[in-house]
Amino acid sequence: MKLSHEIVTVQTTHPFIIARGGQSEYKTVWVKVSDGDGVEGWGEAAPSRFYGETPETVVAALGRIAPAIEGKSAWSLEAIESEMNKAIGRNGSAKSAVSAALHDLAAKRLGVPLWKMWGLDPAAAPPSSFTIAIAPDDATLRARVEDAKQYPILKVKLGTDHDAQIIRTVRLSAPDKIIRVDANAAWTAKQALRMIELCLDYGVEFIEQPLPPHDLDGLRFVRDRSPLPIVADESCIVASDVARLAGVVDGINIKLSKCGGLREALKMIATARAHGMLVMCGCMIETTLGIAAAAHFAPLLDCADLDGAALLRDDPFSGPSIGGGRIALGDAPGLGVTRRAAAGKR
Ligand code: MG
Repeated sequence: MKLSHEIVTVQTTHPFIIARGGQSEYKTVWVKVSDGDGVEGWGEAAPSRFYGETPETVVAALGRIAPAIEGKSAWSLEAIESEMNKAIGRNGSAKSAVSAALHDLAAKRLGVPLWKMWGLDPAAAPPSSFTIAIAPDDATLRARVEDAKQYPILKVKLGTDHDAQIIRTVRLSAPDKIIRVDANAAWTAKQALRMIELCLDYGVEFIEQPLPPHDLDGLRFVRDRSPLPIVADESCIVASDVARLAGVVDGINIKLSKCGGLREALKMIATARAHGMLVMCGCMIETTLGIAAAAHFAPLLDCADLDGAALLRDDPFSGPSIGGGRIALGDAPGLGVTRRAAAGKR
């Protein structure tokens, strides 16, 4: 089995700013596996500095993964994910890219889309939200909400010194939409409880990661007093975190670039279900290739936030999409992703 990679540079339509900063240009790593018979499986690593990854660490991790999986059958999806976890810790996006590529390859060989290989029903996928990032001023924020008019659910990024103003502007600009809020770990417990009351007044559905990742006592304190469900994102990396978060929060936000593979994502879903928790899946800024891997297990989710590729102005891949918020999986084999002809030329 051969592993190869290519670094892909993409631009977001608008600067993607959240509580801890942001930018307009992102680099992801396109990972390919092949058994040498012409069939290739593809996956994408969307490294996040917050979780200690860069395109360079992904490439280094791939160099360590390759010998660890050498000689393994490409069908051994479970064993390879376990070998990768033994060979390297963390590096979630690098490992998840290899996992996605192997799932793509296996489903392509079977001639079925990955959702079918898993026995899922694409019609059961919840609609995806679309993110409204932090804007420089109120007029820009209103324009961003207007730009997102095809999406019925908005996820609003907070964690600024003018959060009340942001949520008010978004609600007034989108009176009938479902609104979710993500504070990206920026609040104190006191701020969180104050903002949650305001969010309740504006009809917000739930609050994602109000407090810093390791403050589980604080999260429990807020959750016990919150009229809105609390979902852990930065606090929840892998399946073993889910058990620790039971009783602390109401739900979890899975991301492939955090958890390190499709098998681990399925384990997180099962663990959360065993604890009666809400399950959502999010993403980083990534192309349709990265989004596709998560979209195929979307039928197992309560909520989806798979807008990473929809935020791009130069997505180099086509495949599963979220037009109008609907997660459209299609019938193409594997992840169902192809490269657009003009990609890589800009
Ligand atoms: Mg989040």
